[in-house]
Amino acid sequence: MLSNQTILLNDFCLQWQYYKHAILQAVERVGNSGWLILGQEVKHFEKNLADYWGLPYAVGCGNGLDAIEIGLRCLGLRKGAKVLTTPLSAFATTLAIIRAGGVPVFADTDDNGLIDLAHCSRLLTENPDIRYFVPVHLYGQALAYSTLLQLKKTFNLCIVEDCAQAIGAQSEGKPVGSVGQIATTSFYPTKNLGAMGDGGALLMQDSQLYQTALCLRDYGQSEKYVHQVLGLNSRLDELQAAILNDAFLPNLKNFTQRRQEIADFYYKNICHANLSLPKIPAHALPVWHLFPVMVKNSQYRQSFEQHLEKAQIKTARHYPVLIPDQMALKNNDNQIQSALFIHAQYIADHEVSLPIHALMTPEQVSRVVKACNDWVMNP
Ligand SMILES: *Cc1c(COP(=O)(O)O)cnc(C)c1O
Repeated sequence: MLSNQTILLNDFCLQWQYYKHAILQAVERVGNSGWLILGQEVKHFEKNLADYWGLPYAVGCGNGLDAIEIGLRCLGLRKGAKVLTTPLSAFATTLAIIRAGGVPVFADTDDNGLIDLAHCSRLLTENPDIRYFVPVHLYGQALAYSTLLQLKKTFNLCIVEDCAQAIGAQSEGKPVGSVGQIATTSFYPTKNLGAMGDGGALLMQDSQLYQTALCLRDYGQSEKYVHQVLGLNSRLDELQAAILNDAFLPNLKNFTQRRQEIADFYYKNICHANLSLPKIPAHALPVWHLFPVMVKNSQYRQSFEQHLEKAQIKTARHYPVLIPDQMALKNNDNQIQSALFIHAQYIADHEVSLPIHALMTPEQVSRVVKACNDWVMNP
């Protein structure tokens, strides 16, 4: 690997070099089995995923968006029901709520960019008709377990935890997804556990919810040609399940550990008066899906990005536009603007994500640090 090569946010070519053998073996097995949809591979993967996560049941589905929609529908969401969520996330979080028939109500974030649970508590007190909640464990950070549990109990909430960026993250020793009736995740290729295409899953403790999710992902059929509800076509492919089983899930612990080592190195070595690193919440074990830094003065953000671009380091913004400000929602009276999103807007205006993926070499990690520290602001 040449030292002047571009450092990518994700290196899928290198991943292919490393895992090609295991992937091709998985493809071969599925080909030989003659079974392509909802067979043994998906069953095994669901079992392995549930074991990894520490929850009793997992249901594979088409993607992370569908997982949230199916989750809300499993919890009986009716058209027009309000759903509390965050303005700073992948658009899919809110899109899933609307597709399930819900009306998003947005709370502000904290200064790390995660939904502010204290603000949620105030909104839930003022709006006692809100019964549904979709919190997001953003950037691979974990929301506080006991605060989330307290909210659930106090306001009698139905919760779908969006864990698309946080598989394996913990708070107070508990995996994300332990509070909500349902946890969802995504196997979009950039995610910490990524497939070679789309995929997603729901996890739960309740066997009834498990049965409902199995039914909803497959047209709503409870057995062949028996349809009791209107479901989706949202199935995880046997091929993707086999690849996840053989190549990626067995390595997830190592991938996560590597991300944590890189984050440690960034904390120890990035030092610049105008860059601030995320504060790790108490009792949390993040999995560093992303490594967001804040450029203290927003007018210098572009200068920082251009400096890294010149050093052949890719960056991205997560997320430059708040969800309620997106055109698709702007004139939609189907949402309730709860307040100004001061913290979320700050993140949208100041955040830059640095490369942090499991296959980065020590030399690449050092290059990112050096480029950050060498940055001279010019407006
Ligand atoms: C990626 C992502 C989703 C959507 O997952 P897809 O598989 O792309 O549909 C939802 N929420 C969050 C927080 C995500 O990062």
